[in-house]
Amino acid sequence: MVAEATSDVGRVLAELDLSRVWLVDPFAGREGPADVVVRDGRIEAIAWLEGTDADGIGQDGVVVAPGFIDLHVHFREPGNEDAETIATGLAAAAHGGFTTVCVMPNTDPALDEPGVLSRIHAAAAASGSPVELLAHGAVTVGRAGEQLAALGELGDAGVVGFSDDGSPVRSATILRNALTYAGMAGLPIVDHAEDASATVGAEANDGLVATVLGLRGWPAAAETSAVARDLAVLEDVVRDVPTARLHLTHVSTAGALELVRRAKAAGLPVTCDITPHHLAFTDTWVAGARRWAWDTGDDPWADGTIEAAPYWSALRVNPPLRTAADAAAVLAALVDGTADAVATDHAPHTEVDKAVEFGHAANGISGIETALGVLLAAVDAGRLPLARAIEALTVGPAAILGARSRRAAGGPVEGETADLVVFDRSDRWDVTAGTLASRGKNTPLLGRSLPGRVLLTVAAGRIAHEDRDTGRS
Ligand SMILES: [Zn+2]
Repeated sequence: MVAEATSDVGRVLAELDLSRVWLVDPFAGREGPADVVVRDGRIEAIAWLEGTDADGIGQDGVVVAPGFIDLHVHFREPGNEDAETIATGLAAAAHGGFTTVCVMPNTDPALDEPGVLSRIHAAAAASGSPVELLAHGAVTVGRAGEQLAALGELGDAGVVGFSDDGSPVRSATILRNALTYAGMAGLPIVDHAEDASATVGAEANDGLVATVLGLRGWPAAAETSAVARDLAVLEDVVRDVPTARLHLTHVSTAGALELVRRAKAAGLPVTCDITPHHLAFTDTWVAGARRWAWDTGDDPWADGTIEAAPYWSALRVNPPLRTAADAAAVLAALVDGTADAVATDHAPHTEVDKAVEFGHAANGISGIETALGVLLAAVDAGRLPLARAIEALTVGPAAILGARSRRAAGGPVEGETADLVVFDRSDRWDVTAGTLASRGKNTPLLGRSLPGRVLLTVAAGRIAHEDRDTGRS
């Protein structure tokens, strides 16, 4: 099965009868056995099944949910189309079940003025993909951290937030001004929280694994202290600008998540997302372990846990893979709602940029196609309720995007345009260079199989991805 070869992408979904499926509607807070009928791109009927009609239908079969929303992806266009284009990124998104994505502005040139946004939107339209493409504008000119970008113009042009992602918003003064101006427009600042002065030359999470492998340590405190700074600045700004909003992306440490939990309890307007890789992998994977984080201890050299060669550069990512305790905190934050959303930080790279020494490899994991499977592995292990996983891929990010996304209305609702994903929890798929639609094959899951094969993704009533093996008529 080659995802890119799907010929019907962009075509209106004329007719679909999903009978006896498990329907998850996180917007209405409901899930259960149902029949769903789609005609000419619209949801014609939803019938929740009860009594004997519902016999034998469970969460472990075919599941229908609203299309997923990814707050954080890197599609590399313009500037590095060898790693990903808007078209291949959108195909990868659809293969992963996503129908809305937000691209990050660390392209070349950076998305720091409306002209770059126009180019990206033109590329999305030319791709023929019905997946909704949204964008974050840069906080500073060229993402250089020195001069505030034209936030007002970018906001008028339609960006959904501002970020210098790849780097933190370096100066507290700039962060303060950015929160103020973006807040007046009702838009969030999306920060990659990292005290860069504490991570110079850092290679792997500071701790036992880095020490034994001889990799330079990347301290958890670099994230915790940056989050503390961001929250302190936010607290100052909201006194004058109550509409200011801070979103912390890819939070990866127990300490930072605890700060977010307390800030939310104190009523600060802060939200955050976590990634599937920080939830499911640990730094022990860099040593060659391959157990899911919830199955692993802190000692990768315990009997039988080393399954692969160490130093695989597919595992180099920023923030780095953390300890099992941090991964457990990420999972707990997802379950208790401290983390509002799961975002993939999909970061495709060319083979050239990864085929170097671990510490010199480009940071990032190509993850938008494997996100669902990784979350379902946690569901299968009894660590994460299916409905919560779906909620963090739909309702959570939709609330952060607000009215600038066509997804703000929620769904699925009878009479509305169909926007949904259909996946089969009883079927697995193999992660290989050939099955990934992304140009980035840089995932440590290559060669593994994942649960939850995506059969069909429908965005705005049109086919975004269709599994050619399923023979849907
Ligand atoms: Zn980042």
